[in-house]
Order: sequence, then structure tokens, then C-alpha cells
Amino acid sequence: MIGSLLANWREARCAAAMVFLLFVGVAEALPQNNDPEFNDSHFHLTNNIQEGPDIREFLKMMGNRAGRVAIFGIPLQQEWSYRVDGDRAPTYYLHSDAPLYYYSFTDAWIAMAYRSLTKEQRARFDPMITGFNPADMYAVDHIRRVLRTFPGVFSGIGEFTIHKEFVSAKIPGEVASLQNPALDRILDFAGEVGLAVILHCDVDIPLAKDVAMGAAEPAYLSEIKAVLKRHPQTTIIWAHIGLGRLVAPPEGYLSQIDGILSDPDFSNVYVDISWDVVAKYFVASREATENLAAAMQRHPGRFLFGTDGAAPVNESKYLSVFNQYAPLWKTLDAETSRKVRLENYERVFDEARRRVRNWERGHVARVGAN
Ligand SMILES: [Zn+2]
Repeated sequence: MIGSLLANWREARCAAAMVFLLFVGVAEALPQNNDPEFNDSHFHLTNNIQEGPDIREFLKMMGNRAGRVAIFGIPLQQEWSYRVDGDRAPTYYLHSDAPLYYYSFTDAWIAMAYRSLTKEQRARFDPMITGFNPADMYAVDHIRRVLRTFPGVFSGIGEFTIHKEFVSAKIPGEVASLQNPALDRILDFAGEVGLAVILHCDVDIPLAKDVAMGAAEPAYLSEIKAVLKRHPQTTIIWAHIGLGRLVAPPEGYLSQIDGILSDPDFSNVYVDISWDVVAKYFVASREATENLAAAMQRHPGRFLFGTDGAAPVNESKYLSVFNQYAPLWKTLDAETSRKVRLENYERVFDEARRRVRNWERGHVARVGAN
């Protein structure tokens, strides 16, 4: 009895010490005033069935902790097939074998949500166009039409997906590909307009290590590098550093990323560390966190923090990925941390806003302000 009381007391004292240390750590790393702690370069207001919080509810979740947010829907709608799922209505792409399809209305939904805000509230968002099929040569026409219908709103395109576990194969019709000229057309147009691009492309096939494919490098690495290199005028954020649910960082992966970020041919390329599954890889061990911190410190201007939140139900859900990265924020030097959490976003999206508004002035009859 006494033994267990002592053990509990020791645990309690240990927990109190940890809370204290956590507090000191966070207090050192993060701002003391009302300045935001992060800008979020990757956020879905809606989920795979186009549902999510009202944008004003989301503003409350952001509170003072999130400053600005790149906001978009999800281009792919999960079909509810009664023949496949009966009364069990799927809400996520993994909930059903029924297909996904491109749902272009997502862009109008996001634009109308944004337009319903006050000017001060709008200033905190960078809406993105996502509702196009990247295997379709007409995708560019959709993007142009959205810009003309909702001038003064959008800063970029994405997140759109080329290769992603389960997702790519669930879309009927031609499978998206890095070799498709339709993708080049989209990236050329983004470069011409100044739209920032958020591109999701898994760097490898699912579970490559576990199924012992034995390839010297990840399946899509050379193709993605070729695409990034072909569009030097286009600012491209490679989402999740190419990692995914079934694509853990292969051995030495960060040195391959380091190679890309060190090469002047890729000066248009950024990477984001969004998504809880990606955070999990980088906080799994002290070494993993230190390796990521070292890569960031070598290229402090090229990494962006994002949550990859999708239709969060409350503030704690929304903030979870930022909190999950606490070991990273403690490991980074203050200047790099500030760039990754705040300043890189401001630089990339301020420039995108400026250039897209400028393009709109020449291509759209009447233009509102962002
Ligand atoms: Zn995402």
C-alpha cells in the first residue's frame, strides 16, 4: 500500500516536473505576446464529403495562435454507393471501395465562405483553387474560370494530388501522372499568373520498404524532380516532403531533399511538413527530430509548417499537429523556427497575392481587394 502510494507520488512529482519543463520549453521557444505562433500553409476547411465547420467557427479555433491560413476544400468527393456501402454513409476515402470524383464546386464554396468575412478577417486567409482534374488538359480552363468568377480571392492552386496511396487508383478515368502534359500546362499557367502551388505526390509506392522492392531510390523521385525542374517560374510547395501514410522516409531521405534544396535549378521549390502522419515520423525519435531540424537549419527559407487539418471539430483538434511538433520547435534555433512557423509563409503567399491580383487587373473586368 505504502509502496504504491510512494510510486504514485513519485509519478505525480515526475509529471509535475515534466509539465514545468514543458512550460519552460514552450515559453522559451514561442512568443510571449499576442503574436501568432504559426501560419498554416496547408488547411482543408472541408472533408471528403464536402462538410466542415463554418469559416467563422474556424476563426475561433485559430484564435491568436494561428496567424494566416492557406485554406482550401478537398477536390475529391467520396461517392456514397448504396450498392457498396448500403446505409453506412462513408465520410473518408478509406471508408469505402466506392470511387472518388472531382468536385469542382469546392472552389465556389471556399470563395463564398471567404467573401462572407470582414476585410480584417479575409486578410488572414489565402484561398486556393483545388477542384480540377490534373489529368485533364482543360484543368487550366477551370482555374482561369474560377479566377474570373471570384477575382480578389485566390492566392494559389492545391492541394491537388498526383500519386497518393489508395486515392489515385480510386478515381475513375485516366490516372494522374507526373508525365502527363496536362500537369505541365497547369504548372505553366500557375507560373504565368503567380499562383502558389501545393502539390501532393507520394515520393514512393506504398510500403516500398516492407515489400522489398529493392529500388535504389523512391519510385517517383526522378519524375517529380523533372517536373519541378521543368517549371522554374512556378512556386511549388511539395506537400509533406513527399511522404505519406504508407510512405515513411526511406533511409537517407533528408539528404536527397537536401540535394534538391541545395541545387539552384530547384530554387522555386519549397516543402511542407504538414499532416499528423508526417509529424509522427519526425518526432518518433530524437535522432529523427534532429535530422529534420538540421535540414531546416541548412535551408531555413524553404520549409513551411502546415497542419493539414481537415474539417476540424474544435480548437484542440486543429492545434494538434502544431503541438505534436513541440520537440522540433524546441530543437530548432529561434531564427529558423520563426521562418518555418511564420515568415516563409508570409514571403510565399504575400508574393502570390501580389502577383495574382496583378494578373487579375489585366484579365478580369472588375477586381475586388484581398
Ligand atoms: Zn492536405
